[in-house]
Amino acid sequence: MPLFVISNQSGVALGKFAPSALDPVEARLQALAARAGVRFTAIYWCPHHPQGVAPEYTRVCDCRKPAPGMVLRAAREHAIDLSRSWFIGDILDDVEAGHRAGCRCVLIDNGNETEWLRGDGREPDIVVTDMREAALAIVAAECPA
Ligand SMILES: [Zn+2]
Repeated sequence: MPLFVISNQSGVALGKFAPSALDPVEARLQALAARAGVRFTAIYWCPHHPQGVAPEYTRVCDCRKPAPGMVLRAAREHAIDLSRSWFIGDILDDVEAGHRAGCRCVLIDNGNETEWLRGDGREPDIVVTDMREAALAIVAAECPA
């Protein structure tokens, strides 16, 4: 089953770190995934921010969540049927990005969402408290007993 990481990393645009700083993060994510017996098919970062300080990354883009650009790119590059895909996130911008791309969405309500700006596309299909619950909920939704 294809698995992706889709993450805003505006720290690049904000001059907090270089894009290359994300390489060891990616390696670590893959190592953690390997311990769980899986591998991320691809990892997508949005390095942009409209109010950045690094000129090459300072702009409005179509990939910074809640925009769906990274999800759509993953689907295009890996022939993914988004109507059969799930997006798991921990803030409502994730839910919106997933819905705008055509996925169903699980919100992990772990305290990371602090604004709770509800609205179009921002209502999660499922709410859980951690990644394990998210996985179990998706299995239950896909394979009803
Ligand atoms: Zn972007």
